Amino acid sequence: MLQCLRCGYRGSGPKRCPRCGFPLIPEPQGRFRIVEGEPTIWRYGPTLGVSKGVTLGEGMTPLRKIGGVAIKDESRNPTGSIMDRGSAVLASVYQGARAAVAFSEDFTLSIATYFSARGITVEVYMDPTSANYADFILLASLPNVEIRFGVAPKVDVEYGEPYFLAGIKTLAYELFEGARKMEAVAVPLERGYIALAIYQAFRELEEEGYTAPRLLLAKYREASVSEIARWLIDKGAELIEVDSVDAVRAAVELAREGIYAKPLSAMAYVAAAQEKNAVAVITGTGLRRPYLPRRGELGGLQAQIIEVLRRRGEMTAYQIWDALGRRPTLRGVYKALSSLAARGIVAQSYQIEGKRRIKRFKLNSGK
Ligand SMILES: [Zn+2]
Repeated sequence: MLQCLRCGYRGSGPKRCPRCGFPLIPEPQGRFRIVEGEPTIWRYGPTLGVSKGVTLGEGMTPLRKIGGVAIKDESRNPTGSIMDRGSAVLASVYQGARAAVAFSEDFTLSIATYFSARGITVEVYMDPTSANYADFILLASLPNVEIRFGVAPKVDVEYGEPYFLAGIKTLAYELFEGARKMEAVAVPLERGYIALAIYQAFRELEEEGYTAPRLLLAKYREASVSEIARWLIDKGAELIEVDSVDAVRAAVELAREGIYAKPLSAMAYVAAAQEKNAVAVITGTGLRRPYLPRRGELGGLQAQIIEVLRRRGEMTAYQIWDALGRRPTLRGVYKALSSLAARGIVAQSYQIEGKRRIKRFKLNSGK
């Protein structure tokens, strides 16, 4: 069942509230529960009421302190942004063999990567004169993606739809688990969907007796305030205006510490630095890695294995198979690993554990 937080509508959809046009979000499924030992957003699967259909290792991103500010580094997700949380959940519930999506930065690359990994063909509609070329090239290289120029006649998947927002909520759950002392969370503000999902996750936790942190919306001084943001401010969120030059300075400062944030994301750091015990959510990097799957070079499974190893470091074939949601066969994972090892992309090592010899795989440096 979906709900509208603004007017109280409950129903099965469509994607936006039929009464007031606000984004809809799935209702919570019982109490907050954690699947211990699950190292991805799927540790909150039962809370979301969604079963794992696909994972590339999204979520459980690092929390680091820089200059006294706690940083939740979402650029460490598989495609470099917080979008991967939403895409993993949306791709898991999506019914259908094809999906049409309009191009937008970060979102489309994330959606296409997850849908493609699930074997769903994605038609990406883009305007060749305005598309971000780094995203464009990576999209073109994904195994199940078709690029179309022009406007989509009908879009099947869009930014901010209900199950996408459900996935974004897992960020708040992770902060709840890992940053109990935080008093405020700063989120960069564009349209307000990410802030809305985080707000709702904290509100649900509050119903279970937890004290939610203050929600700080970091916005460029010159940017307008969206409809969603206005509603959030009405509910107690605080708007913090950031100078665009300060945001760029913050991005430079973060880069020196090894966190590659877009200036938009770095705004959250500027906002959090003004507060005591605040967490800044760095939503994305904008930098793209050059070794994502290349058509004709790597099979889809090989590319997925590389992605898992890049994020997690050394792993056994069984752990890799598990991280891939056990969708390929274990035998297929072994075959892909030997092929990657044969080409020098993956290195193998052996360790003795008890009386067993364990073989582990990791990416060769420079890959
Ligand atoms: Zn409504």
